[in-house]
Amino acid sequence: MFEIEKTFSFEAGHTLTHHDGKCKNPHGHSYVLKIALRKKALEPSGPKKGMVMDFGGISAHVKPMIEKYLDHAWLNTTLETETPTAEFIAEWIFKHLEKKLPGLYKVTIFETATSSASYCVS
Ligand SMILES: [Zn+2]
Repeated sequence: MFEIEKTFSFEAGHTLTHHDGKCKNPHGHSYVLKIALRKKALEPSGPKKGMVMDFGGISAHVKPMIEKYLDHAWLNTTLETETPTAEFIAEWIFKHLEKKLPGLYKVTIFETATSSASYCVS
């Protein structure tokens, strides 16, 4: 099994409406997003020979999504939820990308350098 991972980042604001602490106050994060793909076999021929997927091909799908829904966005609005937790964002991104990125295995969102949540194939 092969696994590749590409890292992206975006700045966004949110509030966790039901939180019992300071996360209910409007605030922002410098999010880090990691996209992982797994495949058993590499591309057998052509310009992508020997790859799981061209890293540029991942960016071609992820960057437009970041621009439209995530970067400098208010996530409660763009993701249409009262609770845009890291877990929710990871699942939302996974479902947004799963048909576009064959082999998509795991989406991880870092809210801070030490706090992350992932959604992955079960
Ligand atoms: Zn937060």
